[in-house]
Amino acid sequence: MFGSDIGIDLGTATILVFVKGRGIVLKEPSVVAINKDTDEILAVGDDARNMLGRTPCNIIAIRPLREGVISDYNITEKMLKYFIRKAVGSPLPFATKPRIAVCVPSTVTGVEKRAVEDATKQAGARQVFVIEEPIAAAIGAGIDISRPCGSMVVDIGGGTTDVAVISLGSAVVSTSIKVAGDNFDESIVRYMRKKHNMLIGERTAEEMKINIGTAYERAETVSMDVRGRNLISGLPKTMTVTSDEMLEALSESVTSITEAVHTVLEQTPPELASDISDRGIVMTGGGSLLYGLDKLIHEKTGIDTIIAEEAVSCVAMGTGRYIEFITSPGGVDITKMGI
Ligand code: ADP
Ligand code: MG
Repeated sequence: MFGSDIGIDLGTATILVFVKGRGIVLKEPSVVAINKDTDEILAVGDDARNMLGRTPCNIIAIRPLREGVISDYNITEKMLKYFIRKAVGSPLPFATKPRIAVCVPSTVTGVEKRAVEDATKQAGARQVFVIEEPIAAAIGAGIDISRPCGSMVVDIGGGTTDVAVISLGSAVVSTSIKVAGDNFDESIVRYMRKKHNMLIGERTAEEMKINIGTAYERAETVSMDVRGRNLISGLPKTMTVTSDEMLEALSESVTSITEAVHTVLEQTPPELASDISDRGIVMTGGGSLLYGLDKLIHEKTGIDTIIAEEAVSCVAMGTGRYIEFITSPGGVDITKMGI
C-alpha cells in the first residue's frame, strides 16, 4: 500500500489539507484551545473555535502562526499532527507515512523554514518539501510557472501579504509584509474606538470588513448595524456604520499593500515587468476579497488586476498539484528549475 501524499497550506488564519487523488479534504481555522493552567491542548481547528467564548476563563485560544511564521513551535507541531491524522487516518507505519509539501511565506528565514520542516516531520511526514507560498498560489491560480515569463502574485492572508514576481519556477523579486486581513480587523477596532468611543470585538470587526469593508469608493454606500460597548457609559450600544467610514478606517492598511506592490514592481527587471503589464496581477488569499482592493491596485499600478477563482483555496490547490507532480513518475521539482 502506498502512503498518501499531502499538500498543506499552513495559513495564519486557515489550514487546508490536500490529499493526492482526493483534493482538498480539510479546511479549518488554525486555532488551538489550551488550558492555561496545565498547557494541555483541549481542541484544534473548528472544535477549538467553537469553544471560544463558551468556556471557563482558564481556556484560551491560540493562533500559533499569527504573523505567518511559527510563533509557537510545540503547538504548531501538535496542530499539524492533528490535521494530518484527520486527513489520512490513524497513525501510520513508516512506509505508508505521507510525503508532505507545505508552504511558507517567501521571506521566512532559514531557521523559520527549518522549524516548519521539522514540525511537519515530527507531525508524521516521511519526506517534507517546503515551498514558497507565492509559488503555490501561482500554481493554484493556474499560472504556468515553468515558463520564462514574469507573473505577479499578491497573496493576502490573515497575517501576511506576500507579493512576488515569479519566473521559471522561482520568485525573482518578492516581499512579505505583516499587513493583511488581521490588520484590517484591528484597524476597524481602532477606528470605532477613536471615532465613536465604541469597543467592538475582533469577530465583529471581521464581519464589518466582510460585509461593508471597502478599499475603493463604492458606487452605492452600504451600511450595517454594529453592536459594541460605549466606552464612556460602559453600556451596550448599537449603531449604524457605513462603507464610507470603512474606507477611512482601512485606508492606511490598504495603502501599505499598494505600496508593497509598487516596491516589488520597481525592483522587477524590465522584461519581466513588461510581461506583468501584459498578463496582469493575480490576487489570492481571503484578504484579496476585501471590496475594491483589486480596483485600487489596478488604479495605483495601471496594470489589470484580477482575483483568482477560489482565492481562498488557491495555495492549497497549488501545494497539492505540486506534490502530485513531484511524486509522479518522471516528475521534476519545477521550483528548482530556475536555479
Ligand atoms: P491565511 O492564508 O493566512 O490562512 P486566508 O487566505 O485564509 O489566510 O485569509 C484569511 C483572511 O481573509 C481573514 O483575515 C479573513 O477575515 C479574510 N477574508 C475572508 N473572506 C473575506 C471577504 N469576503 N472579504 C474580506 N476579507 C475576507
Ligand atoms: Mg495563505
